Amino acid sequence: MSKTSLMTLDSKAVKNNIDFLQNMIGPEVKLSSVVKANAYGHGIEHLVPVLEQAGVDHFSVFSYDEAQRVRKSTTNNPTIVIMGWISNEDLPEAIKCGFEFFVFSLERLYQAQHNATQLNRVAKIHLEVETGMNRSGLNRRELKTAIALIKSAPKQFELTGFCTHLSGAESISNHHRIQKQLKKYHKMQALLQSAGLRPQYCHVANSAATCVFPKERFDLVRIGIMQYGFWSSAETFIHFRQSQKVQDDPLQRILSWESRVMAVKEVKTGEFIGYGIYYLAQSDIKTALVPIGYATGYSRSLSNKGRVLINGHRCSVIGLVNMNMIIVDVTNVPTVEVNDEVVIIGKQGDLEIKVSAFSNISDELNYEVLAHLPGDIERQVI
Ligand SMILES: *Cc1c(COP(=O)(O)O)cnc(C)c1O
Repeated sequence: MSKTSLMTLDSKAVKNNIDFLQNMIGPEVKLSSVVKANAYGHGIEHLVPVLEQAGVDHFSVFSYDEAQRVRKSTTNNPTIVIMGWISNEDLPEAIKCGFEFFVFSLERLYQAQHNATQLNRVAKIHLEVETGMNRSGLNRRELKTAIALIKSAPKQFELTGFCTHLSGAESISNHHRIQKQLKKYHKMQALLQSAGLRPQYCHVANSAATCVFPKERFDLVRIGIMQYGFWSSAETFIHFRQSQKVQDDPLQRILSWESRVMAVKEVKTGEFIGYGIYYLAQSDIKTALVPIGYATGYSRSLSNKGRVLINGHRCSVIGLVNMNMIIVDVTNVPTVEVNDEVVIIGKQGDLEIKVSAFSNISDELNYEVLAHLPGDIERQVI
């Protein structure tokens, strides 16, 4: 390990999660693997080939640049859907590459028609409709306009999808609002049908909706967080356990993150440790220096709070998290030597540092913690 820390992606865990999800949704429903935000911090270039190996042939990303990164990381020419940002300059190239993309406004539709005509190519579009999230999507009136335009330009458009996004299926408190959204979606779907348009995939469900509303999986589900081994929320996991009458978590975490001990030191009672007066040694203690810090993804908010695993013991971060280093209390670890493994996220022996504990916050924010994992840390796939 020449870098200061290393992330490991477990391809067996990926296979386990994809198999579990495929089994849950059955052969009739397509699984789209959501790998936006650098594959939820795991690393597109490392994880996408593993997902492909596990049988994934359909990916969803947020932006055009991510779509290009996915394309370059794959070998089997999978479907790639851009759910969000494409600049007008990049749209012609996106069409040429055969990327599918969400059309969430009439401007995007007009632009796509213009580019497809110029290129003499077909734009593969997913019409996204506004059903109550009030974020992005065509309203009923705009949908009618879009339908007329698509019908008038069969050489320019292939209607690959018809979709919406739900406003928080991971929490029961949102379910009333979501029921209203689903009703609206069904009505808009009927509008499409009566115009004789048959999209290849109707889709609304993310991970939570896939679990909680199995009837609303339609033709395709957009799975992000679960493929990485996390439930969308504690509520979603409890719902799953109760409905399936199981106790154990069938999902496995993919990512672990390790560093090494850089130096070991004895500190006498009454001494302050690190910058300022953030930690006072109240007895003679032994410390280990670890080369990770806020410049390399270890948040400063973990000062005096973080935990790492060293030689099978849970050890506390003491004092401030520095730019490149943390100091850890290893008084209770019988032997600690330079180069010993330090687990930042993941398992060592029977102990585990979870992503949620790592950030010292609740499970709900796994998304944010993952998305903040630095992209430039060395990664290995095992
Ligand atoms: C991120 C995203 C998903 C995936 O959500 P998870 O909760 O991670 O499964 C699905 N659909 C859209 C539109 C998204 O932006």
